[in-house]
Amino acid sequence: MTSVLKLWRPGGRREPPIWLRPTGRARAVWRRRVSPLPSTCATMPLERAVAPSRQAGRETKAHLLEEGLPPPEMTDQGNRTPLATAPLPSAHTQNTAQAPAKPRILSGMRPTGRLHLGNLVGALENWVRLQNEYESYHFVADWHMLTTDYANTTELQNNIQEMVTDWLACGLDPTKATFFIQSRLLEHAELHLIFSMITPLGWLERVPSYKEQLENIKDRDLHTYGFLGYPVLQAADILMYKPQYVPVGEDQVAHVELTREIVRRFNFLYGRIVTSSLAAVGGVGAARPVLPEPQALLTPTPRLPGTDGRKMSKSYSNAIFLSDPPQVVSKKLATMVTDPARKRRTDKGNPDVCPVFDLHKVFSNQDVISKVNRECRTAEIGCLDCKSYVAGYVNERLKPIQERRKPYEQNPQLVWDILAKGTERARKVAQQTMAEVRNAVSLSQRDLRPQETGSESGRSQQRQDESGRR
Ligand code: SF4
Repeated sequence: MTSVLKLWRPGGRREPPIWLRPTGRARAVWRRRVSPLPSTCATMPLERAVAPSRQAGRETKAHLLEEGLPPPEMTDQGNRTPLATAPLPSAHTQNTAQAPAKPRILSGMRPTGRLHLGNLVGALENWVRLQNEYESYHFVADWHMLTTDYANTTELQNNIQEMVTDWLACGLDPTKATFFIQSRLLEHAELHLIFSMITPLGWLERVPSYKEQLENIKDRDLHTYGFLGYPVLQAADILMYKPQYVPVGEDQVAHVELTREIVRRFNFLYGRIVTSSLAAVGGVGAARPVLPEPQALLTPTPRLPGTDGRKMSKSYSNAIFLSDPPQVVSKKLATMVTDPARKRRTDKGNPDVCPVFDLHKVFSNQDVISKVNRECRTAEIGCLDCKSYVAGYVNERLKPIQERRKPYEQNPQLVWDILAKGTERARKVAQQTMAEVRNAVSLSQRDLRPQETGSESGRSQQRQDESGRR
């Protein structure tokens, strides 16, 4: 026998089953309540998505109230500025009454195991520098790992441990920065799901790295729902912590821009949070967006070549790892490709096309860079000597990192304890954000445990329901 599940909306009146989306008048009322902007602006960037009456200069108090916006004298600032140009309150001030000590940044890394020199100069040195100036959140992007490496996860836990050990070895300080594991906070999955409802497919198909990786990675099938949607997950990861900035290299600015597009669409669809106490008595208060638009924080990310001349990458097997002993570093560098035109010791070389010289520019001091630049062109210096110089500088840079690594290698539980503490710290922020998001989207936040009729909790829930309906 087929059983039919009848689900009814909460409340005294019988309304359509919840699988029917709100339409018609109910939809219009709902839209007016949550969205200050006309539906024709649904795909416009927020800074351009202003109501026609305001565009025409007819910004009267009546118009503002009709649009759900506060007139100037009723805002906290007293002088309402357009949302896109108004300074956004920091995530900290949104959650607490205290002024923020530092602006917040967030960045993550896929757990690929031991990190290499490319990770050091491309990300980690920036993170270490930024942790003194910003409230830093860094996460292990293990769900992102699944978007491409879903077929083989046997090394995942070990890779997380190795990667975070390298973070600590490079000087990231868990008393200054918060480290956490993405997959331990299910709020990320929930926000990803909500964003996936509002993100047009075309935005994802146009992401440059999506096409690039589909073309370049042939040993795995990346024609999956998860891989196409990874920028949406990335947007959820970022916005969960409402950071002011996302540290990125130039090649990743497009990802942050897509996150900004998603947040504009979210804020358009689901409105803004009224912050003034006037709202509590039925008036119109000052408003702020539910989620702020983060900015890209451009950080220097030199492209570091691997031993075969291509970009250093674990997947190309051309990497020099931060934990490689000095003799291994020297051996790897001794086999590194050089100027292809310099075949004999007596041939004059061209440092401008030599990957070894690129390493010199990052690791060697200015005197050595000048010497190599001059003597390579006149064949006064041989490639083996040149490589031994750079090996010395690389090993010098790695020495303190490898020293700091030792205690975590000897006791890996230290790494997991740091991750556990950081994840709990991050959870508090994630829960706060999701409460605001669920409220904005009108998703139920009721306590679904049976309430006693006439009890204080029951009356309190009823008051909340009535206030919500108003
Ligand atoms: S001397 Fe150095 S810079 Fe010149 S080709 Fe050889 S390795 Fe490259």
